[in-house]
Amino acid sequence: MVTVEKLHELFLLCHNGVGTDTRKNLEEQMFFALRGPNFNANRLAAQAIENGALYAVVDDKNYADNDKIFFVENSLKTLQKLANYHRKTWDYPVFGITGSNGKTTSKELIREALSSKYNVWATQGNLNNHIGVPLTILNCPTDTDFAIIEMGANKIGDIAELTAIASPDYGLITNIGKAHTEGFGGFYGVIRGKSELYHHLLENDGTVFINSQDEILANMSKRFKSPIFYPGKDDYFHCEFIDANPYVRYQPEGMETQESNMLGSYNFLNISAALCIAKYFDVDLKEACKKVNNYQPANNRSQVIHSASNTIIMDAYNANPSSMEAALENLKGMPANKKVVILGDMNELGESSEEEHKKIGEWLNQNDISEAFFVGDKIKVASEVYNSGMTFEDTESLENYLKTNPITNSLVLVKASRSIGLEKLEHILKSS
Ligand code: ATP
Ligand code: MG
Repeated sequence: MVTVEKLHELFLLCHNGVGTDTRKNLEEQMFFALRGPNFNANRLAAQAIENGALYAVVDDKNYADNDKIFFVENSLKTLQKLANYHRKTWDYPVFGITGSNGKTTSKELIREALSSKYNVWATQGNLNNHIGVPLTILNCPTDTDFAIIEMGANKIGDIAELTAIASPDYGLITNIGKAHTEGFGGFYGVIRGKSELYHHLLENDGTVFINSQDEILANMSKRFKSPIFYPGKDDYFHCEFIDANPYVRYQPEGMETQESNMLGSYNFLNISAALCIAKYFDVDLKEACKKVNNYQPANNRSQVIHSASNTIIMDAYNANPSSMEAALENLKGMPANKKVVILGDMNELGESSEEEHKKIGEWLNQNDISEAFFVGDKIKVASEVYNSGMTFEDTESLENYLKTNPITNSLVLVKASRSIGLEKLEHILKSS
């Protein structure tokens, strides 16, 4: 059976890294035949070679019928081992990011903040799992001198597995909140899961960046000799929150007030982390701020959309109790005559699901919201607690309702787990 060392030699001949999908361009790539619950790519290996892949790796002997196709025991494990082997050849910083919320946003902001000085390679989109992390490593361009790897988790052990592949020497946990509590077996499970990044850094003499205002993270960091803290007055990097109406304004140490394109007070922490990291890696702070301020979030991650009479906060990409609370608190802090919420189910909460959805209703009872629309099954309990909202089975039903009952002159928050598809409301909300 082919060794990882030998595969790595061949991989270095593949100028376009690795691929796993025969529908994509595999020209000069090494193809890995992966298996999933509904597919088995082993039978596509020969096709991959035909499509331009230089080599293929399979874990079904029957398809290793060509001298460019290599048989291994497990293609996925081999992909991960090859990624780690390759990563060990790098002599530049590798930065790992995990956390319950804000990983992708922080990753993009750190990339921006460092980009005036470094050739940064970072996870593409949200490829942050046991397949995405090795692909990120193996598809890293050769002129890179700083890598940022996003690591997602939905159960204990996930981050340990990903750190074993990526071996980060620097790390950031954005926050520890209530996300994926189902898979982690409750909130303490989430803490344990996320701390796997800290364990890796502790064992490998790594450096950790910590939000000093987050009690849980600050406590977890006590075992480190010299953690890098932000954004408090006495911290390594000091940054002052000014406001978020709607965009975050902030004042970094020694500089004037800055205005970002980021919505929501929670993004102040993501910005501070990025600038703290830029300072640590000797990037000119002015340049870093310029880049960070120009960054516009995409993919419905807290986008602001203006229509003829409404301002819409489109945050339909994901939702869990902590990001929901952050979004609602942010809405509360924004000035508007009429505030409307369109909220949908938060998934993967396990036993705490009902209670967490109820809390939304309680929050609405205590705050000044003109109108509330709920979409989905799980969030029905919120509308029962807050008895003046309207509930819809799905996004399409609400869309139909809004066609004849448009929302006007309002500040509208749109938030739910992605499966609810609230982003489909963009068109109808923009039309009034
Ligand atoms: P995923 O688990 O899908 O990869 P993620 O951790 O990468 O999510 P982002 O995509 O960056 O998170 O942000 C998703 C949403 O989380 C944002 O739109 C916002 O509502 C919320 N969010 C972002 N940063 C924070 C933060 N620091 N604290 C709380 N909520 C946040
Ligand atoms: Mg992400």
